[in-house]
Amino acid sequence: MDLGHLLHLLIPSWKSVAILALFFTYLAIAGSILPGKLVPGATLPDGSRLHYRCNGLLSLLVLVGLIGVGAKMDIVSLNVTLVLYAVGCKSTNQGSSLKPHVTENLLDDWWFGIQLNPQFMGIDLKFFFVRAGMMGWLFINLSVLARSVQDGTLSQSMILYQLFCALYILDYFVHEEYMTSTWDIIAERLGFMLVFGDLVWIPFTFSIQGWWLLSTKVELGTAAVVANCLTFLIGYLVFRGANKQKHVFKKNPKAPIWGKPARVTGGKLLASGYWGIARHCNYLGDLLLALSFSLPCGISSPVPYFYPIYLLILLIWRERRDEARCAEKYREIWAEYRRLVPWRILPYVY
Ligand code: NDP
Repeated sequence: MDLGHLLHLLIPSWKSVAILALFFTYLAIAGSILPGKLVPGATLPDGSRLHYRCNGLLSLLVLVGLIGVGAKMDIVSLNVTLVLYAVGCKSTNQGSSLKPHVTENLLDDWWFGIQLNPQFMGIDLKFFFVRAGMMGWLFINLSVLARSVQDGTLSQSMILYQLFCALYILDYFVHEEYMTSTWDIIAERLGFMLVFGDLVWIPFTFSIQGWWLLSTKVELGTAAVVANCLTFLIGYLVFRGANKQKHVFKKNPKAPIWGKPARVTGGKLLASGYWGIARHCNYLGDLLLALSFSLPCGISSPVPYFYPIYLLILLIWRERRDEARCAEKYREIWAEYRRLVPWRILPYVY
């Protein structure tokens, strides 16, 4: 491939930029006007609280409906085109090549500076970017699915992968309000990493398994399918259960946990339920889910395991940073919590 051709692939077409702008404009308008629960966020250092309109699910459903209506003539090509263009890339031959080519131009534009809670026209940008990334991931997956149907290569592995990811993404939007008490929203600053991570990293790297399955045939036995489904189910219960328990506890520290009064350290930290098993049990659930997205690809190649391996590294690093933040914030209360719950992520291992 010569340099000219490579450069050509890296430069977005006007159409791609227009559709990307359309996608963001839609998200901004839908996020502002569609009804949704108004959830108060964490208390800021100045005592104020931001409020988040949790209408991501409705925004997603309306967008899917609009695409469906607009694409009655050819939903497959429209999906592929919309997604690839929406995330700022283009295929060499309108749907015949699904390889993404992220543009440097867009990355430059995505630099917004490093602020904790940047707002633009009343929209919380961190919340907005996560939403865009999760929707982008779903649309890329749907495009890959459409492609495999079109090619006649739809397999059991592809169905499992698609099903698990779609459930995870829909679940994110159903429980979008829990996002307001996560580390990303309360403590992470909006810089290149967060913007790049949400808009490019999530949609593209989380969908590697789908791209891979388009060109690779995998035979899964019944035992493998059952093990895969169990991994997803257990991962989901731990992930959603732990995040929900923390969210409920933050809103009402007296709420029962697993049907019993919560065990609380220093009046501030939950030390029972999932949070009594490991200090970041929610990360364990997420890691099991990530594994379940890759298991449909079998074990013949490490490529589809990129996401769980990346997530393992990211969450271990994040756990260390969160631990340092909490030790600083809660001091002796955190030391007491560590004594009560000695495991970081996986009991008896880490
Ligand atoms: P958490 O939701 O675990 O939030 C950590 C914060 O929760 C702490 O800073 C502290 O904040 C509070 N906290 C910690 N322990 C307790 C406790 N025992 N009781 C009460 N409050 C506590 O972290 P994340 O935001 O990192 O993760 C949220 C979810 O998002 C996780 O499930 C994670 O796996 C997932 N995630 C997924 C990623 C992906 O790429 N797939 C990337 C990052 C996260 P405070 O000061 O408010 O008390």
